Amino acid sequence: MSESKAKNTSKKPKTQTMQFEAEVSHLLNIVINSLYTDHEIFVRELISNASDALEKARHRQLTEKDDMADSDLPLEIRIRVDEEAKTFEISDTGIGMTRDEAVRNLGTIAHSGSREFLQSLGENGTDLKDLIGQFGVGFYSAFMVAKKVTVHTRSADPNAKPVVWTSAGAGSFDIRETESLPRGTTISVDLKDDKDRYAKADEIKELIKRFSNFVAYPIFVNDEQVNTVQPLWTKNPSEISEDELKEFYKFVADAFDEPMYHLQFNADAPLAIRSILFVPGQNMESFGMGRMEPGVSLYCRRVLIQNKVEELLPDYFRFIRGVVDSEDLPLNISRETMQDSALVAKLRKVLTKKLIKFLASQADEDAKKYDEFFKQFGVFIKEGVASDFDYRDDLAKLLRYESDKTADGETTSLPQYVEKMPEDQKAIYYISGPNRDAIEAGPYLEALQERGFEVLYCYEGVDDFVFNNLREFEGKQLISADQSDLKLDDEPAKDESNDDESGDDKAEDKKDEPKSDEEREAGDLASWIKNQLGDAVEEVRVSKRLVKSPAALVNPDEFMTTGMKRVMQSINKTGMPIGQLVLEINPKHRILSRLNTLRKQDADNLLAKQAASLLLTNAQIAAGLLIDPKTMMEQSTKILEAALGEE
Ligand code: ADP
Ligand code: MG
Repeated sequence: MSESKAKNTSKKPKTQTMQFEAEVSHLLNIVINSLYTDHEIFVRELISNASDALEKARHRQLTEKDDMADSDLPLEIRIRVDEEAKTFEISDTGIGMTRDEAVRNLGTIAHSGSREFLQSLGENGTDLKDLIGQFGVGFYSAFMVAKKVTVHTRSADPNAKPVVWTSAGAGSFDIRETESLPRGTTISVDLKDDKDRYAKADEIKELIKRFSNFVAYPIFVNDEQVNTVQPLWTKNPSEISEDELKEFYKFVADAFDEPMYHLQFNADAPLAIRSILFVPGQNMESFGMGRMEPGVSLYCRRVLIQNKVEELLPDYFRFIRGVVDSEDLPLNISRETMQDSALVAKLRKVLTKKLIKFLASQADEDAKKYDEFFKQFGVFIKEGVASDFDYRDDLAKLLRYESDKTADGETTSLPQYVEKMPEDQKAIYYISGPNRDAIEAGPYLEALQERGFEVLYCYEGVDDFVFNNLREFEGKQLISADQSDLKLDDEPAKDESNDDESGDDKAEDKKDEPKSDEEREAGDLASWIKNQLGDAVEEVRVSKRLVKSPAALVNPDEFMTTGMKRVMQSINKTGMPIGQLVLEINPKHRILSRLNTLRKQDADNLLAKQAASLLLTNAQIAAGLLIDPKTMMEQSTKILEAALGEE
């Protein structure tokens, strides 16, 4: 400690050479050596950093003016290019960096974009070019065009010493203190020989028009101002063109795609709000890039209060990008006070309601486009239904599902479903499975289809969870079609079983009713099968629902649906015990009636025994549960042996 202090106080500023954090070196290697061709994005990245630094300076100027270096400097960005010297230089009068900040911000993976970038490199099949395009690699993109990068910076902190940071990108950087500098940062790039086009003023002006037109500070190129600085959200909505909105989206979202929807929302009461919100074209989370950060920035009278404000919208709307400006907010609101600010809570409420209403209106206006939206972002809506009690019912109206009554790829909503329900239908039915074909090949639709009841198809693991949480919609209970009690009026009550040995010791109303011979025999068959299967199922019972299928696994547990069991199995990667499931058999099916004949002739008939266990395996497959392939092999070998008979 004392040693390093002694070094720092020596007269001549010492240059210290430091290693980049390993991740940065890795990133720089990729950036420098990749075949990525859009090198020009470095201009946008450096301007974006300058603009961020200026926003911070403006904020500080307005809240703690007395405690800021060069507080009267105009807030602006100046770019200087020199064709002969092959240099590109960008200066801002922003917040600057102290020595420590420069070491940390430029030498470690400080910002989340780069971290995500590196993480997603590990994902299979992700194209490097796409990745750089999607994230931008921030400051490091300068190394795509630079032989050497030099950063002069002076923090807004009045006591800070100016520093110079340099690097050629190869493993290390140098840092030293320097003589006085005005507040802000200048980044000088010595261009590689084949990158000299970035030393041409016209080229740079062109790029600024394309990428950085919405920067709220004047940008000068060789002393000529090239941008207009009126923030878009302060313009009258009717004066904003579609193209402007698209460009603005790319600017605020740091995105390269086009927005799917945009919402311009202005209000005077209960809060003064001017906002432009976007739904991106792509759901980045679906690329396997981890959780998205919230993407709405909060302004007060055009001054940035904070980027990516978490409190502004519920978590499930984290995919929304844009800007909210409210003059009712105090400028000095901090990250901490944001959390318990009643104003922010109010703002959040207004925005959430507005967004839900907006999405509903888009769905009404253009159902096809909304389906596209839902394909990408439906998972967030589902998250909302499961987590936000306040808006649950409104969010539930935004859900879309295919069903047995929609064409492949088309969807229905819960309100549409309820409206079409026949009078004798009391509940809303759904079934989960990997896709339409798998669901329709399964045994669960037949009972409901017989009665003309629509069944929603759920293809995602989360759906079961969502419906379980929602429980009901417009007073109609949501029931998974593989549940043992489907609550069909004409179906006998729950736990109807003809089997006395089923292990079910609940008293049953109908137990004492006289049974027909046919019923008794079906019951005997069920208990014979249960004997063969042992503990593999909780119960074997005669089905009242099956029409075409020989057998089906149903779930006696309303809370833990088969879909949820499936999800848990896939998490465990094991065949979780399915003891909680009930095998229903259809005695009228040819397979069962043959099986019955065989087992009556000989209760130990080998083929009959093997057939019983295969019946369960098939029912497990139809339920989408995991089957150990080895067990299946053994099973089919045995059944082949039994079917082919003795030599
Ligand atoms: P990001 O902008 O996403 O944070 P960058 O790689 O672009 O990531 O920049 C890294 C960090 O370096 C920034 O977060 C900021 O702290 C610092 N930085 C970069 N450029 C400047 C600048 N012109 N003025 C002040 N700080 C800067
Ligand atoms: Mg940046």
